[in-house]
Amino acid sequence: MSLALNNIGHLVTNDPSIGNGPLGIINNAGLVADDEGKIIWCGPQDQIDQYTEAQPIDCYGCAIIPGFVDSHTHIVFAGDRATEFEARMEGIPYEAGGIQSTMMATRAASDELLSLNAQHLAYEALCSGTTTLEVKSGYGLSVRDEERSMRVARSITSETTFLGAHLCPTDVKQDDYVDLVVGEMLTACLPYAKWIDVFCDRGAFSAEQSREILNAGAKAGLGTRIHASQLGPSGAIKMGVELGVASCDHCTHITDLDIEALASASDTTVATLLPAAELCTRGPFPDGRHMIEQGVTVALATDCNPGSSYTTSMPFVMSLGVILMGMTPDQALWSSTQGGAQALRRTDVGNLCAGSRADLVVLDAPSHIHLAYRPGVNQTRAVVRGGKCVVGAL
Ligand SMILES: [Zn+2]
Repeated sequence: MSLALNNIGHLVTNDPSIGNGPLGIINNAGLVADDEGKIIWCGPQDQIDQYTEAQPIDCYGCAIIPGFVDSHTHIVFAGDRATEFEARMEGIPYEAGGIQSTMMATRAASDELLSLNAQHLAYEALCSGTTTLEVKSGYGLSVRDEERSMRVARSITSETTFLGAHLCPTDVKQDDYVDLVVGEMLTACLPYAKWIDVFCDRGAFSAEQSREILNAGAKAGLGTRIHASQLGPSGAIKMGVELGVASCDHCTHITDLDIEALASASDTTVATLLPAAELCTRGPFPDGRHMIEQGVTVALATDCNPGSSYTTSMPFVMSLGVILMGMTPDQALWSSTQGGAQALRRTDVGNLCAGSRADLVVLDAPSHIHLAYRPGVNQTRAVVRGGKCVVGAL
């Protein structure tokens, strides 16, 4: 069944060649997708008859945006860390070590429980408009548990990331653990992975270890990404750029030199900002607008995880990007859709160009500005993925 929508009050295409401004906005628009779920046409609604014989669905002047691309999540885990959150809110600072407690709960959980938990969070994300989701392992931290985490991730998305190097378990020596990650663990996880990632930070892995891990993944055919400068300034961002990673994530303590490096590699390496993690750890917010003005390609993502950012909501993250990271609503929308797609090296999602997937969100709002303007409010009327309405109704 093909899809035809008209009377779209405000259509964000992210294709400047077919609409106004950098977001390619068309007012009073129509959109047609084929029966394979690909977009055939977007344009002024009075032209829709030229592109479909079907009776178009009336959107009653609502806004439509591309489906969100959440390029950074850790949704394969068991248990929660509400007590740690409570302690942190009482004043105890966030450190990487809390991962250890989720590791124990994850190891103790059945495959079925791990899978149900991840599916629940993926569905929660879909309900707020996320149509492409990256999912990492990283709470198993043994060959067996990383492999089953990756299997669960693969059952949810094709954007799967092996993050055996999330943290070294306390009962293993750091160097032995790195050997395990680049050896047996990588081999076991490879069939389920598209990407490899490493937490390069104080209390996690050194720059040297991170380089070894990313190089081993790249050699095995995986794309690379890095958790960089979340807990303090480090050489991780510059190293990521040098290695040509698809994305340097967090960038909480980014320096001017890091910004320069990222700007010089803006076609290759995206800076993925995770403002909900700053919010929930009471960390400093990097200046997203300044980074964009300096030429950095910026994505926004949730970092959904039980320790430092337990949210699946991209609209909420957009609000934080605007209100606390200085981004304009246009920049935040672009970074949450096309920016996320670029962080995953995808061109078929994150935009509504002809040939792209018909992944879109129908908003109960007259424009995308309302997403930032009304923080925490669900304004999703319907979510369409691959041309089919999967949440709400059209
Ligand atoms: Zn993360």
